[in-house]
Amino acid sequence: MTATILDGKAFAAGVRAKVADHVARLRDSFGVMPGLAVVLVGEDPASQVYVRSKGKQTVEVGMASFEHRLDAATSEAELLALISQLNEDPKIHGILVQLPLPSHLDSDLVINSINPAKDVDGFHISNVGLLGTGQKSMVPCTPLGCLMMLRAHHGRLSGLDAVVVGRSNIVGKPMAQLLLGDSCTVTIAHSRTRDLAETCRRADILVAAVGRAEMIPGDWIKPGATVIDVGINRIAAGDKTRLVGDVHFDSAAQVAGAITPVPGGVGPMTIACLLANTVTAACRAHGLEEPEGLTV
Ligand code: NDP
Repeated sequence: MTATILDGKAFAAGVRAKVADHVARLRDSFGVMPGLAVVLVGEDPASQVYVRSKGKQTVEVGMASFEHRLDAATSEAELLALISQLNEDPKIHGILVQLPLPSHLDSDLVINSINPAKDVDGFHISNVGLLGTGQKSMVPCTPLGCLMMLRAHHGRLSGLDAVVVGRSNIVGKPMAQLLLGDSCTVTIAHSRTRDLAETCRRADILVAAVGRAEMIPGDWIKPGATVIDVGINRIAAGDKTRLVGDVHFDSAAQVAGAITPVPGGVGPMTIACLLANTVTAACRAHGLEEPEGLTV
């Protein structure tokens, strides 16, 4: 069997087109211009690439992009003052503080100082609690993108056995909550899971969010399962490097029913979902109907 490739690049383009349509409707019919503020502290090269890409895509869908680049030595008080100002600014509907922050800054404190209604990353403790109790919230972008792709592929997820490998606050745990919300039977596996291979073999839906190159081989996968590979790992390939996921793609694609590639799978969905969350936040802020299919 050869798996269907779930094309995240194409799917993300579809999400961005929907966002752009909605942004145009908000602007033309209601005079609302959704705005996203991204705050970057320090010079982390990967973060700089992400922030640039977020700014570019924000403008491409017709929204206003505000970038705040702060020196690595910025104090917590200065950062909190900026967030407070963004919380109050009616032009800003979404605020994202790029992680990781320099070590002298308390990430939890900073994230929890964002107005939860503008917390488009969905990391504020209020949004975590709302998601966990099945209430309307801001949903973390990467798991939201995974859920959108799963729903598009399967239709209903109800009753399926889902295994999420990884229990981080940004991917594994919210992913598990979303799958539970769609009535999957969910197992969360992690580094202490006793028989990971056997656990993975039970999954109709297998989500890998570990950060270990090609750790999951094809013979851990149930024939016909849907495999969502969140991992982004850089490995040596001759004198260059290349990106691989947490799943060994070639062997997995022989067994799975559907699989996301790396790159070009989950990755492009993350920023698309950030834009989706910003337009959702703008609708909520103005008491307007939310776009369909852009949130849970
Ligand atoms: P974390 O390092 O925060 O979490 C990794 C999780 O994997 C932990 O729960 C850890 O378990 C578990 N784990 C580690 N080793 C093993 C093992 N041998 N067996 C089973 N479980 C294991 O990573 P993130 O959740 O932040 O990211 C995971 C991956 O997803 C990374 O490759 C990251 O780059 C990628 N990513 C991709 C995004 C995208 O846009 N596509 C966005 C975010 C992340 P324990 O808790 O027990 O230590």
